[in-house]
Amino acid sequence: MSILNADLHCHSVVSDGTLTPEELASRAAANGVELWSLTDHDEIGGQERAAQAARGHGMKYLTGTEISVTFANETVHILGLGFDPDDPAMRQGLGETRGGRTARAMEMAQQLALVGIKDAYEGALRYVGNPELVSRMHFARFLVETGVCKDTGEVFRKYLTEGHPGYVSHRWASLKAAVQWITSAGGMAVIAHPARYRFTANEEYALFSEFKVHGGRGVEVVTGSHTAAEYVRYAETAREFDLAASRGSDFHSPVESHTDLGRLPFLPGDLTPVWEVLADRIQ
Ligand code: AMP
Ligand code: MN
Ligand code: MN
Ligand code: MN
Repeated sequence: MSILNADLHCHSVVSDGTLTPEELASRAAANGVELWSLTDHDEIGGQERAAQAARGHGMKYLTGTEISVTFANETVHILGLGFDPDDPAMRQGLGETRGGRTARAMEMAQQLALVGIKDAYEGALRYVGNPELVSRMHFARFLVETGVCKDTGEVFRKYLTEGHPGYVSHRWASLKAAVQWITSAGGMAVIAHPARYRFTANEEYALFSEFKVHGGRGVEVVTGSHTAAEYVRYAETAREFDLAASRGSDFHSPVESHTDLGRLPFLPGDLTPVWEVLADRIQ
């Protein structure tokens, strides 16, 4: 069934969203979401609260996370869906992936100080809900608050990205490790928003090929991070690589996100939705 209002990608205060898991669940339910997943960056601390809140609203739930990976010198995001949140290897892997974030954030603040933006680390921390998870998004909110930029989109065009002040390169988990943590914990690995990466055609082919070799089985086709043309393009990639297709808003905040929870087109009817493959993992 592709005609299901599934939203399998969003963020809470446990990573870089602005709403709690409970507030997200209410908003998802109000928007007609039938199957939901909270996918905080490198973190599963909100899973129990999200699953419980989903139950309270009569929504089905899949466990979720979005793991930061380094592939071909680029950061790639791998969604994990339907895994066992108590799996020890998964928990340890995510903990290690979170590990470098504080030192990176301090370095980002030092870079920003060089262009006259003072106390950015302390400023970003005011937006952080989880001390282990300082994200560039928290810095972006600080730069908007202090009037350096008018919105977070402008921040990522002028700061915090490669070639701009405040960018610090970082080595995240390997593709192989992230896919293995998810699949060994009984879940499905899904390549998040593939159109967002600046890969050549050869690099993108290598990403999908290696992902499959390691056991990855899904790709996010309909997402708030894609244009309508990109839905078509990655539906074709799903067919070419025989991957299941996912749908998720990537909602972070009512103010910053242009795609609200559950407010997305349905998946193309001929694709296999990830929730069909994960039927026995749905709570
Ligand atoms: P981090 O995981 O600390 O590198 O932060 C990345 C986060 O910044 C993403 O998950 C988004 O929430 C946010 N973000 C928003 N726009 C962009 C962009 N153009 N480039 C990178 N990150 C962005
Ligand atoms: Mn984010
Ligand atoms: Mn992402
Ligand atoms: Mn995301």
